[in-house]
Amino acid sequence: MITTFVAVQLCIRAFVTYPQLKALSEKHDFYELQRVASEVEQELSALENLVYDNAVWDTTYNAITTKDIDWLAKTYFIPASYTTLGIDGWLFFDKQNNVVAAEVFQTTLTLDEISQAVTTSGIFDAVEQPSTVHTVFSMFRDTPVALIASKILPSDEQGDSNGTAVVLQRIDQSFIEKITPNITGDITFHAIDSLTPQAISQSTSFDALNLDGVSTPTSSATLPRLYVRFESQQGQTLFAISIARPKGPDKHVIVDGSLLGGALVSVLSLIVFYGFINRKLINPVYELLSLVQRAQDEQDFSLRCKPDGDNEVHQLGTRLNNLLSLIEKQQNAVYEKNQILEGLSRTDALTGLSNRRYFDEWLATLADSSSTTNNALSLLVIDIDYFKLFNDYYGHAKGDEALKLVASSIKQSLHEATDHAFRFGGEEFTVILQNTNLKDAKTVAENIRKHVENINYAHDKSPISDYITISVGVAAKAPGEQLNESELFADADRALYQAKAKGRNTVCSA
Ligand code: GH3
Ligand code: MG
Ligand code: MG
Repeated sequence: MITTFVAVQLCIRAFVTYPQLKALSEKHDFYELQRVASEVEQELSALENLVYDNAVWDTTYNAITTKDIDWLAKTYFIPASYTTLGIDGWLFFDKQNNVVAAEVFQTTLTLDEISQAVTTSGIFDAVEQPSTVHTVFSMFRDTPVALIASKILPSDEQGDSNGTAVVLQRIDQSFIEKITPNITGDITFHAIDSLTPQAISQSTSFDALNLDGVSTPTSSATLPRLYVRFESQQGQTLFAISIARPKGPDKHVIVDGSLLGGALVSVLSLIVFYGFINRKLINPVYELLSLVQRAQDEQDFSLRCKPDGDNEVHQLGTRLNNLLSLIEKQQNAVYEKNQILEGLSRTDALTGLSNRRYFDEWLATLADSSSTTNNALSLLVIDIDYFKLFNDYYGHAKGDEALKLVASSIKQSLHEATDHAFRFGGEEFTVILQNTNLKDAKTVAENIRKHVENINYAHDKSPISDYITISVGVAAKAPGEQLNESELFADADRALYQAKAKGRNTVCSA
């Protein structure tokens, strides 16, 4: 995300902001240059008026016609006039472009010396049209100068010109400062020999800046200053003036503090946002997920989460708790029902004792236990005497009642911790006595037998007693002996058979 932010920022800066700033800066540079050029232009145009006023004047015209040098010298070559007008020389040419009279820098140079020193070519072409005044830049010896020329004409501007009047204006630092009083300080004159090739190549031509209708300024300047180049009529650079360059786009870098600051703010926002989302959403959801997973893996539906808010995730937590609680209730209900079913499946409906199925199961369980092997274990097999006769005489319902009575009688004679009674089938019962040797088992059997007999439940058809009686067969395995269920049962059953054979209502052991 941060990379995207930085990339987008860079693209915007590189392809939109930076080019716009650059264009704006170029435009600004161009207007600065134009302002300088315009200041120079204004000064020169004042001089052009001055030259024109003097050149289009009958007296001057006549003086040139009559070559009245004295008059020209007297009229023009006056120190006070140079100072007042701020110019550096006058040159008067006749129709053949020969110097008739001249004075430059208030020196005593001869006409020949002056005409050799000044490069005049271009002046006469520039002022071809009548009444045309024109300025060209030139050199006087080593000094850059502006030559402001005007055709000499009669005052009515009628007829042919008979020569050219030229004002010579030295261009140097003081000229620049004089003409640009409102540009404070930082405008500099550069003679040609002080200009670097780079400054020349990046300079803008003075003529180009003064053309009307320049609409697409271009400035590829990279230097700290902006240069205006002044050229001779032949296009040769003579000198330049420069101003400090305003701040440009190359001073604006694409990767800067604001971009890095923006990126930093984004990173911080992201961290804060992530922290918030993490705390409010991701962590709570993760907790819910691990809760569901634990509940599922451990089948423990008593687990609960602690929703401590009221946003959607917390509501989800509350609903999950409700769901878990529902599952837990249903699970408990199923467990209880299973317990009941299991109990029922192990219980004899009539007597409430455990049934034969459970007897087999329980014996098998005991057989697998080392505790059973290490200790003694006894088994009683109990059978009601002449019960067929009882049933036949008293009826089946009464028979059932007797069965229940015998069952409860057996139960009452036992220690619950070690002894377990079963209805084995019909009117036969079994009792498993853990940790009980044969001797003690016989005592228990005898107790049961007596207990049943002493109920005095009438059995009028019994050949041996007036009451219901039972016969008991007892068998046991010794401590350290592996329990063999079928063998033990067969022993006890054999003992029961003996008890029956002995006349019933008795206990026999294997
Ligand atoms: P013995 O002394 O030799 O055991 O004689 P017995 O009559 O008890 O002998 P037997 O085993 O032949 O008879 C068992 C009788 O028990 C048969 C049946 O009438 C009765 N009986 C078996 N199961 C039930 C029962 O669930 N209810 C009732 N009322 N009688 C049963
Ligand atoms: Mg029987
Ligand atoms: Mg019987």
